[in-house]
Amino acid sequence: MSMAYKKQETEKMCLECNKRFIGISRSKFCSKLCQGRNDAKAYVFVIDKKGNKVRRCKYIWEQQNGEMPKGKMIHHIDGNKKNDAIENLQLCSRKEHRLLHISIEKEARIMPFKACRGIF
Ligand SMILES: [Zn+2]
Ligand SMILES: [Zn+2]
Repeated sequence: MSMAYKKQETEKMCLECNKRFIGISRSKFCSKLCQGRNDAKAYVFVIDKKGNKVRRCKYIWEQQNGEMPKGKMIHHIDGNKKNDAIENLQLCSRKEHRLLHISIEKEARIMPFKACRGIF
């Protein structure tokens, strides 16, 4: 009997395409593709002065701080990509962002890295 090693796999419904799939308790999507589609929808986009479609979090951050440095990204402190209040936006490097999410995940064990992916 090696029950301890068995992952909790259950039948789930994909949040994006409503397809039924077998996944572990934390998975919400049937595929990486569906996860990506859902991520993209989670962000709010605006049109900047140059007519480019940009993520609202980037736009708001740049209104306050000037152009975002190359290689940096914005982390949503509360994990909600729709909460683009300036105090919820934290500028960090890709590496810092990853470490940040690893520590959040360790603490909460509910928020995977993909929960907030502010890559520009
Ligand atoms: Zn799906
Ligand atoms: Zn983040």
